[in-house]
Amino acid sequence: MAVHQALLWRQRSEDVVLFTHTGPDPTAEEAEQLAARSIRVVPGAVEARETANDRLESVRLHHGEVVPRRALAVAPRFTTRTAILGALGLESTDLALNGHVIGRQVQSDPTGATQAAGVWIAGNVADVVASVITASAVGVKAAALNADLIAEEIRLAVAARRTGYVPSG
Ligand SMILES: Cc1cc2nc3c(=O)[nH]c(=O)nc-3n(C[C@H](O)[C@H](O)[C@H](O)COP(=O)(O)OP(=O)(O)OC[C@H]3O[C@@H](n4cnc5c(N)ncnc54)[C@H](O)[C@@H]3O)c2cc1C
Repeated sequence: MAVHQALLWRQRSEDVVLFTHTGPDPTAEEAEQLAARSIRVVPGAVEARETANDRLESVRLHHGEVVPRRALAVAPRFTTRTAILGALGLESTDLALNGHVIGRQVQSDPTGATQAAGVWIAGNVADVVASVITASAVGVKAAALNADLIAEEIRLAVAARRTGYVPSG
């Protein structure tokens, strides 16, 4: 994914360096793509950021090379807090992109309904790559849970009516 991100940054700047750090070396195909886009690949573990007046000046590698840089981006791994869903019996699963795990999420259908009865989810917990607008869109669809609440109220009311009990609500 670091290669993918370096190629993304190349849209914004002609001066992009990929530090492989502890990751694998680019494949032959990736190396060709990086070279074609004039992205320098620097092997070796990154040891430190060197700053002056709180501004990044350079990146120092374990083997001593110092590479001047004005900005440094580090790839994240998205981790959603799913403990509460785990307690309801919903397990999270890895989401892989190009063969790399980029995060974990809980399975749900397009309305946010999960395998657990009465539990709907929306947003990054169901889709770690969702943006604000897509996360909120599923939140609107998850209003379908009201139909579930209505069905439950009807079921209880019918059961009560059959026994002759009239609930106050
Ligand atoms: C670095 C970064 C940049 C981004 N840039 C953009 C952008 O430019 N445009 C865009 O559209 N999207 C962007 N996103 C994505 C966007 O932030 C998410 O899609 C959006 O916030 C998802 O909303 P959400 O409600 O699902 O989750 P969140 O916004 O993460 O809200 C979940 C909330 O639940 C709380 N919570 C979790 N567990 C518990 C618990 N057990 N009890 C109580 N509270 C709990 C959390 O503290 C959090 O406040 C970016 C994301 C990141 C990480």
